[in-house]
Amino acid sequence: MSKRDYYEVLAVERTATQDEIKTAYRKLAFKYHPDRNPDDPEAESKFKEAAEAYEVLGNQEKRQTYDRFGHDGMNGHGFSGFSSNEDIFGAFSDIFGEVFGFSSAGRGANRPRGGSDLRYNLEISFREAAKGTEVGIKIPVEVTCEDCDGSGAAPGSSPETCPQCGGSGTVQQSQGFFRISATCPQCRGTGKLITDPCDTCMGRGTVIKDKDLNVRIPAGVDNNSRLRLRGEGEAGVNGGPPGDLYVVIRVAPDETFERQGQNLIISREISMVEAALGHRLEVPTLDDPVNLDIPSGTQSGEIFRLRGLGLPHLGSTHNGDLLVEVRVKTPSRLNSRQEELLREFAEIETGKLSNRAKGFFKKAKSKVMGE
Ligand SMILES: [Zn+2]
Ligand SMILES: [Zn+2]
Repeated sequence: MSKRDYYEVLAVERTATQDEIKTAYRKLAFKYHPDRNPDDPEAESKFKEAAEAYEVLGNQEKRQTYDRFGHDGMNGHGFSGFSSNEDIFGAFSDIFGEVFGFSSAGRGANRPRGGSDLRYNLEISFREAAKGTEVGIKIPVEVTCEDCDGSGAAPGSSPETCPQCGGSGTVQQSQGFFRISATCPQCRGTGKLITDPCDTCMGRGTVIKDKDLNVRIPAGVDNNSRLRLRGEGEAGVNGGPPGDLYVVIRVAPDETFERQGQNLIISREISMVEAALGHRLEVPTLDDPVNLDIPSGTQSGEIFRLRGLGLPHLGSTHNGDLLVEVRVKTPSRLNSRQEELLREFAEIETGKLSNRAKGFFKKAKSKVMGE
């Protein structure tokens, strides 16, 4: 069977502009669209012929080759015509989207679609976040029903072609002057009807199952850290790729430590005497407690930094610091002996100044009195 000239197929001049070619193809695609011509093999072959012509003439480079060498020139240029309508819809989705306005409805029902991403909220303890952990979680996912292999029809039976749309999944509706394609209401766009539904999935073709997953939590994660598990989301439809699973971390607050980025903050009280004389303080860390030497003369509110005892930075061996804030506690209930000592202490404090003054007066007096 000899091929018709592509210009003849699209009914355009050899000098037609690319826009004219596109317009011509759009008209033909609309006219011979399978949804408008169900079970019409002639329309279908015209539809394919037009698509093939447009594939060549719609592309400047291929058009030039065709102009010089005709159909012979097209062999070996990575072009072999279209084997199915799905190929045509895929290749010219811009045109079909714009002309028919159904890139996803109807026909899309049988097209591969990627699964949705899922979100899982996971609460972990402060220590788990600090050290890293592995948590087993169960995710409810929609999986292909094994009993019916996803067809939705009871084993031994098979879905029937939808009589309303003839299996195309779309029906024509008039709107004023226009006839538009709409998703078939009887089969909801699948093109098939299940007369004897599968008992396991009630005809849905999919069932909800708990999937067990191990999630490795890296040390140092913070609130709202998101871990992405590729391909662990919802299953794709008609062979589409699965979505991803996002595990969103919530870290429970800790009784001991406050967190600021990768630094840990802890507040400790010491007595007035300890602050004045210096003191060895035992400080908790994420591991064993350590000793911190508070120097004499420490003021309330001073902060001591213990380097590297904070939380690990994600993906690094470098750690944050542990900050120890020291609060000096003033004694509120003193026994009589303590009070006596403090008064004596106070006297010495004031005495430091007045003693010098006293000494001066003594000397002055003795001179005057001639002692
Ligand atoms: Zn089933
Ligand atoms: Zn239908």
